Amino acid sequence: MDALNFIDGRHVPAQGGEWIENYEPATGAPYGKVASSDARDVQAAVAAAQEAFPAWSSLPAQERSRKLRAVARLIERDKDRLARAESIDCGKPITLAATLEIPRAALNFEFFADAATQSATEAHPAGDVLLNYTLRQPLGPVGSISPWNLPLYLLSWKVAPALAAGNTVVAKPSEVTPATAHLLGELCNEAGLPKGVLNLVQGLGPKAGSALVAHPGIKALSFTGSTRVGREIAVETAKRFTKCALELGGKNPNLIFADADLDQAVDGTSRAAFQNQGQICLCGSRIFVERKIYGAFKERLIAKARALRLGDPLDPSTEQGALVSRQHFEKVTTAIETARSEGGKILCGGGVAHLEGRCKNGWFVEPTLIEGLAADARTNQEEIFGPVATLIPFDKEEEAVALANSTRYGLSASLWTRDLSRAHRVAGQLHDGVVWVNCWLVRDLRTPFGGMKESGMGREGGLDALRFFTEPKNVCVKL
Ligand code: NAD
Repeated sequence: MDALNFIDGRHVPAQGGEWIENYEPATGAPYGKVASSDARDVQAAVAAAQEAFPAWSSLPAQERSRKLRAVARLIERDKDRLARAESIDCGKPITLAATLEIPRAALNFEFFADAATQSATEAHPAGDVLLNYTLRQPLGPVGSISPWNLPLYLLSWKVAPALAAGNTVVAKPSEVTPATAHLLGELCNEAGLPKGVLNLVQGLGPKAGSALVAHPGIKALSFTGSTRVGREIAVETAKRFTKCALELGGKNPNLIFADADLDQAVDGTSRAAFQNQGQICLCGSRIFVERKIYGAFKERLIAKARALRLGDPLDPSTEQGALVSRQHFEKVTTAIETARSEGGKILCGGGVAHLEGRCKNGWFVEPTLIEGLAADARTNQEEIFGPVATLIPFDKEEEAVALANSTRYGLSASLWTRDLSRAHRVAGQLHDGVVWVNCWLVRDLRTPFGGMKESGMGREGGLDALRFFTEPKNVCVKL
């Protein structure tokens, strides 16, 4: 399948006629092409978004809501097709895509379809002398740049609130996983979304992405991706005072206290370490365990990791698929070598997984657990973004909190305890934007989502997203 741009309601190749090869991670072989766009394509998409903005922004909220709900229904209807496309494109287990990620993309559209009709603004009356009220107006064409790990889910997480608030959008999906964005274009037309309201520009970050960031017609930019690229985007957008939200990398801690329900903690910690081959920004890659239960917890976690079914992502029973690209596969396997050279002891995994048949050249890495490394070792400081997690014992609560807070990241954390007071106390002390107690990756779309420190700037979700995509204007009336 070739992935084209979707501009002004039409699928089109890049104006320069250039293409990028698209690989299937499970086989390591190319299976399609991606339009390699440049500034000309971005210009066409922004022009379409500008043209569509007056009519879209002045539609009654109910009308916008209806269109977004129609998109949600079509994603649900085509769930299996989209899940298959995403599984082939990313190497992720098809069951994970079909049961979790694609349904969540539909839910994002549905949630913001509701939000469009439910949001209100503030008034500040001062007796019968003055009335101040706040208008929250859409900004115009806005930009979205998203990564490869949850392609449709993270794209819809930005696009849906932007559209609900009355903006038009130019979105750049990852060049590594362009398939479901291409298919979303078709669904938008079928849903009756007016042309130019959502435009998708495929292609490379430094070419298509940077042209979008630099375009003066883009009134706000929402970015999810690495801290390195986020920093560049923050600098570029600051030059024009363009509003910018950044959801970046993480090195998330998992704290397991001795009083935790061990079954739940082992299960949750394993999912947090290995779901989607560890390629979720929220994955818990640093596991801190109270020394009293360290040995028992470690044995059970190793057994769980060894039992994960690694295989062809298109097999419905597969729990661990392939890593997304050769480049990323090399990054992760190099990180495991670094852990070894730092003196880490490999408890399980630790290498490339060799499959038979059609997957024999795929980019598979075994779920890997490592112990014996200091908290300030590179392995415990740098984001690996693969199926690799480390274990470190601790004795005291304060020590656990200090270890958890000891990186430049601050995206999310999980803590496992039956002690209610401790749960609230520790949650308050962690320098992370999202803290889960006795669970992991449970999402309520109304809650603020985002990171502290070098994990980002700004929040997504619910009201925060609608506020990001609107400009507050105070109107002061003398009565
Ligand atoms: P990346 O930063 O390499 O790329 C992300 C997107 O930015 C892609 O679409 C890419 O083409 C584009 N891009 C790259 N260079 C650009 C440039 N100079 N100008 C404009 N756009 C550019 O990240 P990735 O490898 O695709 O994704 C993995 C990273 O994303 C990890 O660090 C992960 O933690 C992070 N992530 C964060 C969250 C979150 O919510 N905080 C969610 C998912 C992923």
